Amino acid sequence: MSIRRILTVDNAADLAVLKQKSATVETVTDDLRRLMDDMLETMYDAPGIGLAAVQVGEPIRVIVMDLARDGEEPAPRYFVNPEILTSSEETHAYEEGCLSVPDYYDDVERPSKVTLRYMNYQGETVVEEAEELYAVCIQHEMDHLEGVLFIDHLSRLRRDRAILKVKKARRAA
Ligand code: ZN
Repeated sequence: MSIRRILTVDNAADLAVLKQKSATVETVTDDLRRLMDDMLETMYDAPGIGLAAVQVGEPIRVIVMDLARDGEEPAPRYFVNPEILTSSEETHAYEEGCLSVPDYYDDVERPSKVTLRYMNYQGETVVEEAEELYAVCIQHEMDHLEGVLFIDHLSRLRRDRAILKVKKARRAA
């Protein structure tokens, strides 16, 4: 396993990749599992709770996630070609962050419950319901597959401010 570089919005070349729509995966192969292992290690190292393949420069429809809290056993989840089948009418605002938008957090409103279908690490098709943090995280990560960042849900002003803040923090670091 190896840790990959995470693309960030303050870099124009990175941003161009992050804006791409990710391609559908044909089948879950050993090569794909190796990428998912690297993504998980990269996410743990960052640290973060979710990561889409495009964030490490691979624009394909793959996501890794681990919502275990500090002190809990790791609980990695892998999503290949995830699709949202149903979304609740009820919405919920949650303060989100993103490894590609370091050190910036803001409220995003999303459906509070979704049903999703995806292939897991073994390539099996899974259908399940997601709510609370799981629902927030999967919708955030699935936006990445469409080239959408959480700051794209904010007003133009707040979005520009977020990118400026990341750039400033990077320059200071
Ligand atoms: Zn993100």
